[in-house]
Amino acid sequence: MSQSKKRDPRVVIIGAGMTGILMVIKLREAGIHEITVLEKGASVGGTWRDNRYPGLACDIPAHMYTYAFEPNPEWEYRFARGPEIRRYFERVADKYDVLRDVRFNEAVESCVYTNGVWQLKTSKGAELEADIVIGATGILHHPSYPDIAGLEQFAGDQFHTARWPDKLDLKGKRVGIIGTGSTAAQVIPELVEEAEQVVVFQRTPQWIYPAPDREYDEELRAKVRKNPRLARRAYRWYTRAIELFFSRAVIGQKIPHLLMSWACKQHLKRSVKNLELREKLTPDYTVGCKRVIVSTKFYDAIQQPNCTLVTEGIERVESKGVVSGDGQCHELDVLVLATGFHPFNFMRPMELIGREGLHINQAWEKRVQAYRSLLIPGFPNYFLMLGPNTPIGNFSVIAMSEVQSQYVLQLIDRWRRGEMQEIEATPAATKRFNDYLRGGMAKTVWVGGCNSWYLDNEGVPAMWPYTWGQWVEEMSAVQLADFTEGSRT
Ligand code: NAP
Repeated sequence: MSQSKKRDPRVVIIGAGMTGILMVIKLREAGIHEITVLEKGASVGGTWRDNRYPGLACDIPAHMYTYAFEPNPEWEYRFARGPEIRRYFERVADKYDVLRDVRFNEAVESCVYTNGVWQLKTSKGAELEADIVIGATGILHHPSYPDIAGLEQFAGDQFHTARWPDKLDLKGKRVGIIGTGSTAAQVIPELVEEAEQVVVFQRTPQWIYPAPDREYDEELRAKVRKNPRLARRAYRWYTRAIELFFSRAVIGQKIPHLLMSWACKQHLKRSVKNLELREKLTPDYTVGCKRVIVSTKFYDAIQQPNCTLVTEGIERVESKGVVSGDGQCHELDVLVLATGFHPFNFMRPMELIGREGLHINQAWEKRVQAYRSLLIPGFPNYFLMLGPNTPIGNFSVIAMSEVQSQYVLQLIDRWRRGEMQEIEATPAATKRFNDYLRGGMAKTVWVGGCNSWYLDNEGVPAMWPYTWGQWVEEMSAVQLADFTEGSRT
């Protein structure tokens, strides 16, 4: 069927982060032009716009953390810093003229499926209709605030890492930080440099993989600019390396996991000579069970004279500071909450209401799940990008969004040809898919005796337990038998 004879869907994309930008580009390439992107913030970039804490960087090598079709010779570090990543997304959005379809400062408040179309209401009171909705709302964007007695009594500055205040001066300040996850591990070395005193409240130690960073100087960048094939080669090289090593280690393949464990343990042993401190920093669970932290700076920072590690737990917070489990009050001027995110909220608190009034909270009452991480029965023509069980613990999210975009486009093409009206996977296929995922979890490191944000309400990792190659292969073709009869009219 020629492009002109195909139906032209009205598509609404929710979110102008990495995935929203990608979807605009890919939909336009496919000849779809009735696109509206609704973005709650004032600019593109999603998580890289919201997170502005000192030390912010990506733990996936920069030349791999790019869209495959848009290599970037301008990377300044092997592990790109937050601001350069933000600039990259802004540049791509600009180059592809994505912004002409984006409405900023306009959050979607409700999205209701009525008579075969989606009706959306926004925070500006606008109403829109869409044939297809693409939820590009990301995963880690709802800060999780700890439930600690007295937290609201703290008299100093207190904030979550994802809400870092502009122009905060920490010179001469006593700063406490709760949490020792990936975010804290990036912030702490910066705090130690800047603040007078830093107190780190660790509840659970983490394994740390010492992947060496490096700066890409102007000479090197000029070389890559002149020869873009070098960036493409680096993309392929890192992709292959992560695929063969990290993403296999986490699903429990013996040799990569042994290597990763050995590297983390050696790093701790070499970096921390004081046995008492080393003991405090040694996790009691399998390497990789919690997302491995990538850092060569954390152990050094924690051993600086102006840094104190508190492992006695937190009793309460008072106006002047934090009282630890041993009764000691750590007086502070600033309290940083590096306490992570709610990873199962996805598009919520937006009201998502599907067929026959089915609310997303009802659909997900028992478990947050989707067919192929993308489609939720009862919510036809709604695609949840990077949904539950996307391989976010195994690989780069950009590559995942690109793979998912191709799958989504195959389905939208069927809609355009009139081969599908309501794109909806059956509950049976969804169950089969999720049973298949559960069947693979026992071998992974995520069930290695820890508590982590990977685990759902039943304690099962919402991850992909097989190889990256298998995921790509399985996402390459649509299994029509998994869709409802109504989908195929
Ligand atoms: P996180 O891994 O969930 O870590 C939260 C930390 O806060 C943990 O140490 C946790 O302790 C602690 N915590 C939470 N509630 C607490 C309480 N009530 N009392 C004491 N401690 C408490 O969150 P995150 O560090 O923000 O990282 C989340 C994810 O974001 C990462 O795993 C990663 O995927 C992503 N991220 C990526 C990058 C990157 O480079 N690409 C950088 C930063 C973050 P427990 O361990 O005991 O629960």
